[in-house]
Amino acid sequence: MKENPMSQQRNDPRPGMGLRPIINVSGTMTYLGASIMKPEISEAMASIASEFVEMADLYQKAGVMVAELCDAKAGTVTSCVSAGISQSVAACMAGANIGKTQQLPDTTGMKNEVLIQLGHMVNYGHPLDQAIRIAGASPRPIGQIGNVHPSALEQALNEQTACAVFVVSHHTHPIGNLPLSEFAEICHAKEIPVIVDAASEYDLQGFLKAGADLVIYSGHKFLGGPTSGMVAGREDLVEAVYLQNAGIGRGMKIGKESIVGLMAAITAWQQRDHDGIRKLEKSYLDLWHEQFNKIQGLHCMIIPDPTDNPLDRLRVFVDANIAKKSASELAKLLASGEPPVIVRHHEAELGHFDMDPCNLHPGEAEEVVSSMLSCLNS
Ligand SMILES: *Cc1c(COP(=O)(O)O)cnc(C)c1O
Repeated sequence: MKENPMSQQRNDPRPGMGLRPIINVSGTMTYLGASIMKPEISEAMASIASEFVEMADLYQKAGVMVAELCDAKAGTVTSCVSAGISQSVAACMAGANIGKTQQLPDTTGMKNEVLIQLGHMVNYGHPLDQAIRIAGASPRPIGQIGNVHPSALEQALNEQTACAVFVVSHHTHPIGNLPLSEFAEICHAKEIPVIVDAASEYDLQGFLKAGADLVIYSGHKFLGGPTSGMVAGREDLVEAVYLQNAGIGRGMKIGKESIVGLMAAITAWQQRDHDGIRKLEKSYLDLWHEQFNKIQGLHCMIIPDPTDNPLDRLRVFVDANIAKKSASELAKLLASGEPPVIVRHHEAELGHFDMDPCNLHPGEAEEVVSSMLSCLNS
């Protein structure tokens, strides 16, 4: 493996471990290590590693920060969003009852149906409905792909309904789903709580305002923290989510290092120069846009994020006749290139892939250009 001078400067451990020094232009993907941590975050994690701490107090302090960040009544932390979903669903079934909490995933004597629009039953690395089933609940899909009538949700609400899950993500089917406000209004008419999976969303307050009872965010995506999750919302439900640490949440626990790292990431987010970072990301997009549009067989445009996060990406359309490779083939070549570049390829079968400018080290945007040129000439 060729040593990259930039990564040597950073003390990059990957080559020494036999791991490929990939450049990630795919986005904050869990399967690629999600995001890169700022030094103040890893330093905060290291500082607590060699100390004892009363975990209940640490959870409490972190919960206050999460609640403030989300302008919520209460907040807590989990090991990741997936764990947050499982613990939130468990909380809606068991409440703050330790007997019920420790009976799960056996739901005898508890409400156990979880409503979710069919177009929201996504796979973010595993099926979302599995995160619900782990708690012992039964997911009940509502409506069809591309069409959910409000009465389909009204019809499905019954004495067995424990809660409803709503997903905000580019993974969801893009049309025909009920919007959150309407979804929540229908559920609330029957006093059914609504859990929102907003893992990758920058909007930290809007979903609670739109009617969510609990909202779950990732600590390791846009926030740039260690692998972790945040749950915010109604006080009684958040308390019950926390209580699940003595139930199904035990095997999903977050460590002291990650809680402290998440707290540092929240502080860093609040102090971050968001405009400056957007300008830098825009400069990467402009560079790629200009360079790739010169290439025969490629056609590019800058597109906004599909769920309105404040970031743009470059969409690269590949004309397979001229480029002599399809979008999927080009994405594969880039991934095995020198250096390996991982693009956002989940729509490659439509003839394009996207390139995300977030979380790049200095010099990497230029390396992406040279990797592209050598792949197209190979
Ligand atoms: C990333 C993601 C998750 C999973 O987050 P983890 O913290 O990695 O468990 C869940 N839902 C959506 C919509 C995601 O994008």
